[in-house]
Amino acid sequence: MAETSIEWTDATWNPVAGCTVLTAGCTNCYAMRMAARLEAMGTAKYRDLTRKSGRRAVWTGKIRLDYASLEAPKAWSKPRKVFVNSMSDLFHDDVPVEFIDLVWNVMKETPRHTYQILTKRPERMSQVLSQRPFEILSNVWLGTSVEDSRVLYRLDAIREVPAAVRFVSLEPLIGSVAGGDLTDIQWAIVGGESGPRAREMKPEWVDEIETMCRASGTAFFFKQWGGKNKKAAGRMLNGKTYDEMPDLRP
Ligand code: SF4
Repeated sequence: MAETSIEWTDATWNPVAGCTVLTAGCTNCYAMRMAARLEAMGTAKYRDLTRKSGRRAVWTGKIRLDYASLEAPKAWSKPRKVFVNSMSDLFHDDVPVEFIDLVWNVMKETPRHTYQILTKRPERMSQVLSQRPFEILSNVWLGTSVEDSRVLYRLDAIREVPAAVRFVSLEPLIGSVAGGDLTDIQWAIVGGESGPRAREMKPEWVDEIETMCRASGTAFFFKQWGGKNKKAAGRMLNGKTYDEMPDLRP
C-alpha cells in the first residue's frame, strides 16, 4: 500500500500505470511527472511510459497492467479509503474489460476497504459497468473529473453509472462550472492546481460550486487553493475548512 498525502483518501493502489492526455485538466498531470521520476529511479513498472518533450515529461500512450499488485489490498488488514489508479485511468480504452473485472473481484473480496475510482472517461466506465459480470459494490465509489465547463457532459455520463456513491473531482478547477448539475452526485471535491505550472482558480468559481452542492444535497470537500506553494495557500474557504464526505447512512 502506498500511503498518500491526498486529503480525501488514505492510500493509493495502482493496478494500471500509464495514460494518455485527454483534455485541459490533463495538461500538467501529476501522474505523468511522477511516472518519469519513478522511471529515473529505476522502477520497472514505469519504464517507457513517458518521454521527454522539451523540458516536460509526456505520456507515450503505453499502458502497463500490473497483475502482481492485484493482491495487495488483501494484505491490508486495517480498513482504508483507497484511491484506485492515481497513476492512470482504470477506464482508459486500452485497459481490457477482463482486467477491470479482476480489479472488481479484489474490491468485492475486500469489503473492509472503501475504493474510490476516478476517471476522465465516464462514458466508457458506464458502458463497461453496465455489462455482466459487473455488480454494484457498496464499498466502491465511482467518480469523474471536471475541470471547466467544456467537460460538463461528464456529469451526465457519471449519472448513468451504476454505483453506491457517485462523486466528482473538480480539480484542477481552471474555469467556472456554473450551470452544471450535481443532482444524484453525492460528493464533490474542489481544488486548485498545484506545482510549477499551476493555473489560477478564482474564488468565485469555488463559491458557485458550494452553492450547487447545497442545492443538490452533495457533500462539499474543499481540498486546496493550490498554486506554486500549495502549503502556504492552504485550504481555508471563507474562514473555514470543508471536509464533508458522502452520507452513507440508509
Ligand atoms: S486522465 Fe488522469 S492520469 Fe490520465 S493524463 Fe489525464 S490527468 Fe493524467
